[in-house]
Amino acid sequence: MTVESVNKSGEKQVIYDAIIVGGGPAGLMAANTLQSKQINYLLLEKNERVGKKLLITGGKRCNVTNNLSVDAFIQSLNLKHRNFLYTLLESFSSQDILEFFKAKGLNLVLEEGFKYFPETQMSSSVLEALMKDLKTKQIKVNHSVKRITEANGVFTIHTQHENFLTRNVIIATGSNSYPTTGSSGDGLHFAEYLGINYDPFTPAETHVYSSEINAHYDILQGVTIRDTILSIQGVKKTFHGDVLFTHFGLSGPAVLHASEDIYKALLNQKIDISFSLVNQSEGEVKSILTHSSNQSNMIKKVLETITTPRLAMVCLNKVSVDNKNIAELSHHQLDEIIRFLCHFTISIDRVEDKEHAFVNAGGIHSKELIPHSMESKKIKGLYFIGETVDLHGPIGGFNITIALSTGYACASDIINTLKGEHI
Ligand SMILES: Cc1cc2nc3c(=O)[nH]c(=O)nc-3n(C[C@H](O)[C@H](O)[C@H](O)COP(=O)(O)OP(=O)(O)OC[C@H]3O[C@@H](n4cnc5c(N)ncnc54)[C@H](O)[C@@H]3O)c2cc1C
Repeated sequence: MTVESVNKSGEKQVIYDAIIVGGGPAGLMAANTLQSKQINYLLLEKNERVGKKLLITGGKRCNVTNNLSVDAFIQSLNLKHRNFLYTLLESFSSQDILEFFKAKGLNLVLEEGFKYFPETQMSSSVLEALMKDLKTKQIKVNHSVKRITEANGVFTIHTQHENFLTRNVIIATGSNSYPTTGSSGDGLHFAEYLGINYDPFTPAETHVYSSEINAHYDILQGVTIRDTILSIQGVKKTFHGDVLFTHFGLSGPAVLHASEDIYKALLNQKIDISFSLVNQSEGEVKSILTHSSNQSNMIKKVLETITTPRLAMVCLNKVSVDNKNIAELSHHQLDEIIRFLCHFTISIDRVEDKEHAFVNAGGIHSKELIPHSMESKKIKGLYFIGETVDLHGPIGGFNITIALSTGYACASDIINTLKGEHI
């Protein structure tokens, strides 16, 4: 139903049922849901096209979602308030995402037994599917929203060109990661103006810098330690996964996932992180070293049975042990070797900037929002979705899943409210 308002100059102005600010996966899913029920909506995007970040996701292949159960999905998140996502993911799960794209003509295929990518292997297909049923007249690109104000249940959306009126506004402006794609953190400015609480965006899911690695372990550049457990000095949590030595420090899934906590820990003091360089437990390494074929083996050869020749050499250099027969080594030297391999400890200087991180922590406090709808508890008709909210996950399709399911939730809520009004 089209409602009009008359402004001070006597001109008639449409009051939209909903305006979506931002055309990323969250905003586009909200638009698809509103479109399916012929709601009178508008999507405003500041770039010359929608979905710029979506196009670079997953190495331009876009890891849309994964095959985890809702429980497993939520347990994988490094968030205190992760239970907030239960109702949202149960209402629009990864299975619903697969069906949504299938209905648009795009099959998602499983990789590594866990991640779903488009069968075309191109993120552009995901964007095309999201755009397939949307009407160009309802999407206004090159419209950067500058301010949002509210009076008597009607929001005014101020862009650099013109103002729009709406009864519901969905803020889907993303975070502050990769700002060249358009995600410049504007959602927080709108929240500030509207009195909604948030935390500033900070880096998450990114690599870390260590001058100690540069100075002493540059030979390990390119080495991956598989399936290790990483811990951060002064932090109770541990992080599982691969760790990669790089020319600047450390990367790999375990480091990426820990980076948000490393960032917070670094705010107070310089910190160390530690992880095992071998897959064996400390006890197993001890047993291998002390029971090696009658103690008649050369230490480097024995170490090479549990790690790579490069790491074995680095280990011996670091603990200042020559390549001798194990029987000639003192208990202290064996303990040093075990400590180096099982509790490798390194100091971290800094975490990559939020602008270069895959995702950002921080954002609108989810406790400001109603969990099943993403509507503000304070201001009726105001919704925040996607990465602009303090909800994010690791690499593996978690973030686009959150964007899509929150997009679906807010639009469904608006549809239900409008339905109720028309009865
Ligand atoms: C390199 C890279 C690879 C990634 N790969 C994956 C992956 O494979 N799988 C995965 O799940 N996640 C991935 N992510 C994370 C994922 O891309 C984001 O979490 C997701 O895009 C967030 O969606 P969103 O719709 O909330 O925000 P965005 O995608 O950031 O979209 C926000 C939109 O709002 C627009 N906008 C901003 N401000 C305004 C304004 N004032 N007025 C109008 N429009 C505005 C922006 O231009 C943009 O189009 C990756 C991220 C990066 C950086």
